[in-house]
Amino acid sequence: MHGGRADLADLGVHAPPIDLSTTYPLPDQAAGGAALGELAEGAIEAASPVYARVRNPTVARFETALAELEHAESAVAFGSGMAAVTAVIQAACVLSGRSHVVAVRPLYGGTDHLLSTGLLGTTVSYVDASEVADAITPETGLVVIETPANPNLDLIDIAAVVCAAGDVPVLVDNTFATPVLQNPADAGVAYVLHSGTKYLGGHGDVLGGVVACAEGLAGPLRQVRILTGAVLHPLGGYLLHRGLATLPLRVRAAQETAAVLAARLVEHPAIAAVRYPGLPGADPHGLLGTQMRGPGAMLAFETLADPNVVVGKLSLITPAVSLGSVDTLIEHPAALTHRLVASADRQACGVPENLLRLSVGLEDLDDLWTDLDDALTAAS
Ligand SMILES: *Cc1c(COP(=O)(O)O)cnc(C)c1O
Repeated sequence: MHGGRADLADLGVHAPPIDLSTTYPLPDQAAGGAALGELAEGAIEAASPVYARVRNPTVARFETALAELEHAESAVAFGSGMAAVTAVIQAACVLSGRSHVVAVRPLYGGTDHLLSTGLLGTTVSYVDASEVADAITPETGLVVIETPANPNLDLIDIAAVVCAAGDVPVLVDNTFATPVLQNPADAGVAYVLHSGTKYLGGHGDVLGGVVACAEGLAGPLRQVRILTGAVLHPLGGYLLHRGLATLPLRVRAAQETAAVLAARLVEHPAIAAVRYPGLPGADPHGLLGTQMRGPGAMLAFETLADPNVVVGKLSLITPAVSLGSVDTLIEHPAALTHRLVASADRQACGVPENLLRLSVGLEDLDDLWTDLDDALTAAS
């Protein structure tokens, strides 16, 4: 609620100002040059922002608030979640010359595809969470995990992976859990990443990404952002900052509904299996209540009927990719978000063809249940 707003009272305003300047007057050009030099080397701020690709005060407010929420020293925002993933790989692997990545599947399809194609000059070893230590070589620059995982809600013991990674920095994609339910930095994670497009923005109207980390790692991320231009627009920074104020309320309300829906779906005759961290057997390592403060508002289920037919029968729930919005969204990972992951690889990491992913929103519980129940019954 208050992060990134400490100076508002002194400014005499209540809402954070949106600074749309692309450039800033530099009457003393030598002093401007000194500021540019500091920022180009990764400094968090300087006497002038100089230019909008270098620093933006509105985006910086969001970064300050998000860093506090993630128990990190700093945060660096990007134009999308994928731009944030890219920047971490560039900082941890390309700049360091250690171009090998160890990753645990399943991951968000875009991250999986970026690593699999080696677009950034990296190579990847996909391993089970228990095999991370064995997969690390002197060339390894980064370990990448997601928990709960997209799209099947697998939980990974973050502290165990940090321990297995040793000196190699670990990136946790915390998009599904949000800082409301989980703070990976507390377990020694180097990079905590969010697609801000999802829960942080929360209303389906802003694309952005952010990485929370120690200040020593934030500097290189800012250098990468300046050089690649992967900046977040100030309006996006404003919306993400505003989203944080209601984040706990939204997450808790959606989580409450998701828990009931998951329990009801388990009993539904048209469903083969439900994936939700709060269900019996879904948390074999006992991470709920310790690593994660709640089971969250994302769930997935395997349908006995054709998943595309089920989606087509829904009337209230929006059939769309993305998640974490105020309204409930459903999508078919094999057809959409995880389309670019080879079918055999999807099967191997627990993403079957008949899996549907549900991002539970803030609608009335019974309205959602009626829609799901009617569609599942009609499709069978
Ligand atoms: C959406 C998403 C991303 C990518 O974020 P964009 O903002 O779409 O670029 C990364 N990780 C997870 C878990 C996501 O859901």
